[in-house]
Amino acid sequence: MEQGRNPQAARDHNRSLMLRLVRDRGPISRAELARASLLSKPAVTDIVDGLIQHELVRETAKGDVAVGRKPILLEINREAMWAIGIDLSRDHVDLLITDLMGSVCRFMSRRISFDDEDEGYPERVAKCVTDVIRDSGVPASRIAGIGVGYPMPLSHVRRMIVCDGQMVGWKTVQLKQLIEREFGVPVYLDNDANVAALHERWHGVADSFRDYLFILVGNGVGMGVVLGGAVYRGASGMAGEIGHMSIDPDGPQCLCGSRGCLETLVSVPRLLSEVAQAGAVAELGTSSVQPVSPTLDDVVGRAFAGDPTVASAIGEMTNRLAVAVTNLVNTFDPEAVVIGGPVARLGDRFMIPFREAMAARAHPLFAEKTRLVLSRYSQDAVARGAAMLVVEDFFESPQRYVPGLSGTQVNGRSQLS
Ligand SMILES: [Zn+2]
Repeated sequence: MEQGRNPQAARDHNRSLMLRLVRDRGPISRAELARASLLSKPAVTDIVDGLIQHELVRETAKGDVAVGRKPILLEINREAMWAIGIDLSRDHVDLLITDLMGSVCRFMSRRISFDDEDEGYPERVAKCVTDVIRDSGVPASRIAGIGVGYPMPLSHVRRMIVCDGQMVGWKTVQLKQLIEREFGVPVYLDNDANVAALHERWHGVADSFRDYLFILVGNGVGMGVVLGGAVYRGASGMAGEIGHMSIDPDGPQCLCGSRGCLETLVSVPRLLSEVAQAGAVAELGTSSVQPVSPTLDDVVGRAFAGDPTVASAIGEMTNRLAVAVTNLVNTFDPEAVVIGGPVARLGDRFMIPFREAMAARAHPLFAEKTRLVLSRYSQDAVARGAAMLVVEDFFESPQRYVPGLSGTQVNGRSQLS
């Protein structure tokens, strides 16, 4: 029981605690909830009745007790509310809708370029939101909020874009305002690698880790740093911006003005263009013609078919990534490094050469104990994580989303961010 708070805050806290216990340990009995929360049985009954009344929790099949009366168990009514996750990428927008337990009911991918001069970008993304809600069949009134994963550093405190590099910040600011106005729900923004990193802890391979690095390899490279179970953002929200870590002083020119940044050497577009170049050299004996890049689908197919050109390009890329990751492991001493994003589709064809490259470089103290793990999520990793921004806030403060749940709640549809 929380002490020292006003009674309303204590009730809100206890309700959130109960909801999270049902989510994490359900199906669970009222008696177990009382034991786990240290609240009295009448207090638990009171809170649970409110959650059942508002259809956030439901009674399920009776528990398996050999002797005596079988207790009624409680579980989350996972379809009570839904969250939308959006992954804003340089050349496409991915959207999905998840239930309260993170299961995806609808995924949609549209090619909309952030780099276009087109000023209709926010409106086009809003149209995608309308379409994904309509296609999912989920009532709009059940959408709790919208999370947006965005490949730029954000100031977490002010939730504002603090710098613009390859992408233009105002579009996202306008997008947030437009979506909030149009759909009347809270909109959360966060860096794409951060949301994907947290999603690994909630629903992925990092559920048993407290200190880990999540490396997102897609159109560029980003990192989510999770320390003590929480994202470490740095003094100005820029922690984890490894795309411009210098790997090769004589490497290719980068958009940032430097040379040989990690992002110029490790990314899906870089891999595709290297495969294309190698193919042109093999077929035509020259790299002077500009070959047509294959798609990631093609490269994944060829990788699993044992294509030596693709294997060689992956080997080059994993070597360069290993240079960066070795330095990061030496800096952070994490329990694990998780590789995710679109490159995860290459599976072992990526992880085997990556592990070999790491083994060749890693400090002996780290090589033994730092686990290198591949995410189960590839293309939808960021959108899933973005939706979890909403879901996590829902479990923290359900009274903000369900009018009437708390006697004195301010506004069920208030601006949260
Ligand atoms: Zn750079």
